[in-house]
Amino acid sequence: MQYYNINDKNQIVSFEEAVLQGIGNQKGLFFPEKIPTLPESFWENISDMEATEIAFQVMQPYVADSIPEKALRDIIEKTLTFPFPVVPITNNTFALELYHGPTLAFKDVGARFMANCLSYFGKQKKIKTNILVATSGDTGGAVGHSFLGNKDVTVYILYPSGKVSAIQELQLTTLGNNIKAIEVAGTFDDCQAIVKKSMEEEDFKAFNFTSANSINIARWLPQMIYYFVAYKAVAQTSKKIVVSCPSGNFGNICAGLLAKKMGLPISHFIAATNSNDTIPRFLKHKVYEPNPTVATISNAMDVSDPSNFIRIMELYEQQLSALQKDFSSVAYTDAQTLEIIQQVHQKYNYIMDPHGAISYLALEDYLQNDEDTIGIFLETAHPIKFQDIVEKNIQKELSIPKEVTSLFGKKKVSIPIQNYEAWKAFLLSE
Ligand SMILES: *Cc1c(COP(=O)(O)O)cnc(C)c1O
Repeated sequence: MQYYNINDKNQIVSFEEAVLQGIGNQKGLFFPEKIPTLPESFWENISDMEATEIAFQVMQPYVADSIPEKALRDIIEKTLTFPFPVVPITNNTFALELYHGPTLAFKDVGARFMANCLSYFGKQKKIKTNILVATSGDTGGAVGHSFLGNKDVTVYILYPSGKVSAIQELQLTTLGNNIKAIEVAGTFDDCQAIVKKSMEEEDFKAFNFTSANSINIARWLPQMIYYFVAYKAVAQTSKKIVVSCPSGNFGNICAGLLAKKMGLPISHFIAATNSNDTIPRFLKHKVYEPNPTVATISNAMDVSDPSNFIRIMELYEQQLSALQKDFSSVAYTDAQTLEIIQQVHQKYNYIMDPHGAISYLALEDYLQNDEDTIGIFLETAHPIKFQDIVEKNIQKELSIPKEVTSLFGKKKVSIPIQNYEAWKAFLLSE
């Protein structure tokens, strides 16, 4: 499989080159040249397959030219070391819990897959890599954790000062070693802009930067696995299946749509957003007009110019009407989010985090009590990551997992940066 650059169709690269470059010429994202389909036998056997086998079969066509079978199986074994439970909430709605990894958010899978790919490439070629990653909350911890202690890699995590939760900040500022936390005076979009600009910066050529955001295909593609695993849990049904995904940079949902193109029988995808509602407005008015990013309680989705929407349009060959048959997008406020967390806790004794809650809301609105459809919403972060908000809202203390207790008492270390110029000065003095 080769990948082309969406902004420069003449730039065609292998999986390995796409991963190492992160982003192509003219800030273009890489995209698979053709979408593979899965053999009949895959669909006949999926109910009996382990997640690692599903992952192998789904990922192999995308990486086969760069990673041989045995190495890929090894990468997947090291990546998928925790469960992805599908939890029934009502008769026909299910939560797909993606937060059982080491940093308690779904980004662990993509980050670990990418880290393991880079280790494999690094071992082959003895290359040193510097990784840049912008985070709206969860990516930083997941990527930092995945690369911690890797001698061939230094990771710079750019995060918006004061706009991530207390636990998220501890997760990304206390790793130390080869992981550096850069505290940016600005929003996530500012962090993302600094990353994209840095990748093109002549003065940074020697750093050999790659990006570990979902613009990197090694972060983006493995997210397809979630949707196959979710499907496996309900594969016996004859009902239609709808999936709702809490969306920020739209990488996760774009992976879901790619899985659908590969033949996954999910009839509709809903991208649920918070007040950063560029895509819901775009689908309604056909004008792409990002507003300034606003801070919300679902902070990992505080993105107003989502990078991966370009990939979604590419997948649908720029045909908005075709896209809208498979895909819709709706926005919800913080007040609605808090209310639904409380309601679902009271009614079903299930505790949602603010991101998962938004996807639940969108699913409920879409299904409107339609009993003939199965709805799956993605629980993308552990509620404990938003401890204050959730506990105050449901009037109950959450139990604290060991991944969090181990952070308490550690000291935050960050490098404050005002703007791009300050970042550049810092980096060149390193
Ligand atoms: C990153 C994140 C999202 C948004 O995912 P995208 O792929 O950026 O759309 C949703 N929920 C949580 C908890 C996240 O960390």
